[in-house]
Amino acid sequence: MCDKPDLTKIINSKSKDFTDLSDQIWDRPELNYEEYFACDAHTSLLEKEGFHVTRGVAGIPTAVMGEAGTEGPIIAILGEYDALPGLSQEAGIAVQKPVIDGGKGHGCGHNLLGAGSLLAAAAVKDYLAANGIKGRVRYYGCPAEEGGSSKGFMVRAGAFENVDIAICWHPAPFTGVNNPISLACNEIIFKFTGRAAHASACPHLGRSALDAVEIMNVGVNYMREHMPSTARIHYAVTDTGGHAPNVVQAKAAVRYLIRARTLPELLELSDRVRDIAKGAALITGTSVTHEVVSGDANLVGNTPLEALMHKQLMKLGPIQFDDADRATAAEFQKTYTKADIAASFERFGLKPQAGLSLCDLIFPPNSGDGTLVGSTDVGTVSWVVPTVQIRSTTYAIGTPGHSWQLVAQGKLPAAHKGMVYAANAMASLAIELLNNPNEISLAKADFSERLADTPFVNPIPDDVFPPLPEKANA
Ligand SMILES: [Zn+2]
Repeated sequence: MCDKPDLTKIINSKSKDFTDLSDQIWDRPELNYEEYFACDAHTSLLEKEGFHVTRGVAGIPTAVMGEAGTEGPIIAILGEYDALPGLSQEAGIAVQKPVIDGGKGHGCGHNLLGAGSLLAAAAVKDYLAANGIKGRVRYYGCPAEEGGSSKGFMVRAGAFENVDIAICWHPAPFTGVNNPISLACNEIIFKFTGRAAHASACPHLGRSALDAVEIMNVGVNYMREHMPSTARIHYAVTDTGGHAPNVVQAKAAVRYLIRARTLPELLELSDRVRDIAKGAALITGTSVTHEVVSGDANLVGNTPLEALMHKQLMKLGPIQFDDADRATAAEFQKTYTKADIAASFERFGLKPQAGLSLCDLIFPPNSGDGTLVGSTDVGTVSWVVPTVQIRSTTYAIGTPGHSWQLVAQGKLPAAHKGMVYAANAMASLAIELLNNPNEISLAKADFSERLADTPFVNPIPDDVFPPLPEKANA
């Protein structure tokens, strides 16, 4: 019996509803924790497909979960649907042209991410029912990936507690199993309080909160020499205490984003940054408070799952783009520098190939050296459930992340092909796992072995809650 054609048939018969869903969400970009339209659209489709739906997962109004199937292991497929600020852009054109000046846009392709994952879950559901296979499939609609760490809050609420395996994907310029390297991160706001005074008449009576921020930043910059070279620290001064130089600033605030290769390394580095803040307060005679806003753990890899996922991709073969797709991608490439395009190849451990606008290959597992990476809240899930991710080609090679060019390509036929391909790959893996429970045991053994000596600590403290907008309480 060959099961692949049946699954592909199911995927193809459903794909229109899901590419439409992706396009609708592209048309209505929403920022983190405000994804009401996207969450409602996903919920409606889950219901139409016959999933048992749980709304408001972890107390977050824009998080949703749908489950189908009875008995057997639980496979979770994770989706996202939040957009980014300042990236409004017309679809399909290789010229920067906002739809709304300063408006929002899908600069990370999460319109595709959510719809593709939901398509995978729906296809697995139908396949299990048609073939009488025991097993359950869940779709998790996870909001606020961009700086909101919703999956960390969902983990804390126990949303993944009885899940056996988690599968996910991300739109990309290349196709293959994701190299499971991301940085653990914490975003912390430091607020300094001093004492206002006339800066000329009685400066001795003032204590400058702005001085404290400046000294803290200097201290952290000196610390850089003595931290792991893979760690990253960025900051933004969010409150300078006012615009009048003749007033000693009584308040000032700085927002830090601290990133490290592993969770234990992150916790240590964050403590050192807190100590520097205390030192700056001591030096300036001010006081300081700190508040964690968000936090993600690093991604934990899983060798058996990655090998099995790669096998599915090799069975599917590369995505079939046509000449029109390649020509459109080449138009976008004209807006990139040579360095943009070369860096895109190198990040995936590939040699730059002149004239290649869309990826027509599957990169080998563990490609790239992982030195230039960001963070994802999928990382936190990977500490509590064996997790695997793929990258699927949805845009031209060289497209910068979070750019107007990425937004512009989000509704193209190539993007839809990449999305449907990702759904096919994730569904194939889910079915493979449910057909062969031994593969699930292998993944769990690998998971336990990797984390045996490192207990999970959620980088989001217990007293921190999602920054839900006012409307959430309405
Ligand atoms: Zn993303």
